Amino acid sequence: MSTLEIKDLHVSVETDQGTKQILRGVDLTINQGETHAIMGPNGSGKSTLAYTIAGHPKYTVESGSILLDGEEVTDMSVDERARAGLFLAMQYPVEIPGVTVQNFLRTAKTAIDGEAPAIRSWIKDVRSSMEQLRMDPAFAERNVNEGFSGGEKKRHEILQLELLKPKFAVLDETDSGLDVDALKIVSEGVNRVKQDTGLGLLLITHYTRILRYIRPDFVHVFVAGKVAEQGGPELADRLEDEGYDRFLGASA
Ligand code: ADP
Ligand code: MG
Ligand code: MG
Repeated sequence: MSTLEIKDLHVSVETDQGTKQILRGVDLTINQGETHAIMGPNGSGKSTLAYTIAGHPKYTVESGSILLDGEEVTDMSVDERARAGLFLAMQYPVEIPGVTVQNFLRTAKTAIDGEAPAIRSWIKDVRSSMEQLRMDPAFAERNVNEGFSGGEKKRHEILQLELLKPKFAVLDETDSGLDVDALKIVSEGVNRVKQDTGLGLLLITHYTRILRYIRPDFVHVFVAGKVAEQGGPELADRLEDEGYDRFLGASA
């Protein structure tokens, strides 16, 4: 079984005002098949953790490690991370002029698997995944991220998840900007991938809303760059009722 281990991770970012420490000793272990929710107030470093796992060049690992099946991820290039089985939703956040969704997905699949997928079954897989996500077939012909709405970006993210079949995925604020119907479709897609592939999931969210559709096995509360408390799904319910005041008070 695959494991993603984050050990005593300290991360800084370069700002105009100099180096800023953001993550201050994060410990977290995710086994394949598990869903871990990371919740926390704005500015607590949740996205920084996602960007660091993705290998974003702005974020510097000062100490600690991220191990995928014992291999040091922080030494890997972004491409190597993807090939090792990490799904990096932030990897291609920009528009890619002249590259259609269809071609992008096939290129990504080929890069990750080390060989091109068989064309017939691939086309069938793409079509059926798009159908399940209620995506118009014409979407496959559009240029990546060009004029995508918030909802289209999220669906495109889940489409990648279904087709690229990573071991672990980090989804950061996937619920933001989605109406209830879109949230349900996207959540169903994530649950399908979990069931079919045993995906390990790090679900980052400020609000508990998405956790009604994607049930976490574990909940970690992030405050000031580290995990302040962890528990089961009941911790999310408690946060829904109480908010983050208790944690903010404690850290002040
Ligand atoms: P969250 O996702 O929990 O809201 P972030 O990881 O986005 O938190 O941000 C944590 C802190 O680090 C914030 O104070 C934010 O302003 C700062 N920060 C994050 N990324 C950058 C960056 N690229 N440049 C400057 N400051 C940053
Ligand atoms: Mg934020
Ligand atoms: Mg964030």
